[in-house]
Amino acid sequence: MSSTFPLGRYEATIVSAGTFALDGGAMFGIIPKPLWEKQIPADEKNRITMGTNCLLLRDGSRTVLIDCGMGTKWSTKLSEQFKVDSTLESSLRAAGVGVDDVTDLVLTHLHFDHAGGTTRKNPAGELEMVFENARVHVGRRNWDWAHNPNERDRGSYRDESWLPLQGEEQSRLVLVDDVNARAKVLPDIDAIFCEGHTTGQMLPLVGGGTQRALYAADMIPTRAHVRMAWIMGYDLRPLELLEEKRRLLSLCADDDVALVYEHDAVEPMTAIVRDGDDFAFQRLEPQHLNNNIPGAGPHG
Ligand SMILES: [Zn+2]
Repeated sequence: MSSTFPLGRYEATIVSAGTFALDGGAMFGIIPKPLWEKQIPADEKNRITMGTNCLLLRDGSRTVLIDCGMGTKWSTKLSEQFKVDSTLESSLRAAGVGVDDVTDLVLTHLHFDHAGGTTRKNPAGELEMVFENARVHVGRRNWDWAHNPNERDRGSYRDESWLPLQGEEQSRLVLVDDVNARAKVLPDIDAIFCEGHTTGQMLPLVGGGTQRALYAADMIPTRAHVRMAWIMGYDLRPLELLEEKRRLLSLCADDDVALVYEHDAVEPMTAIVRDGDDFAFQRLEPQHLNNNIPGAGPHG
């Protein structure tokens, strides 16, 4: 999707950083394969295709990018294992933005499929920042956690993604402190902090008034994860995640906040509706943000 839509002061565009693939069983935790396979089909190695949908926000002075996908620092072996196809720079170009135009990069957390695009290797093999002119916003607690992860999520934190930012707190690194799990990141960009997936994940709530969207990162990564019980096997604290997820989905359903799915390879944004004790998604055309489409029923 390359169409733009208003979110408060910003003109918003969903830009794809490409696709990769992860084990379908890990992506759906306790959900049996015959059920999840109907939502997202698996390949011969049981992998499902994952999108990496980033949110580009422009207000005339700032150009903000939320998350930046897998990046290009992948060996042939890992690239094949994860089926990496990185397209962020061409997607940004198609939206009329060069990497040097980005003034602010907001990272939800430092897992490799969210922050990997922060850096690349130059021809000499040295790490360099992709977005040379951007300030990089990361939750302080996630930054600290990423430097000392545990055995369960160490594989998701690859230090080379943020190595060049170390010691840059006075200049281009902005560590965001949360109070009562909330913070203000930039004008019209608040953040809701969640602990269920990993420590200090920062979910941007963008816009104002009747034009708002929640960027749900790894809390609700695809439309198939809207149902309460459909949570990932990767999550560090599943019971905490359940409580946080219910609060997020209630906010979307009750306050007409659109939901952006970072990893849905087909549909990056929908509305959320209540469905008994659970929730479902509902089609939402970007140009009709916060207006229900006549005749569009729940698909979840
Ligand atoms: Zn993650």
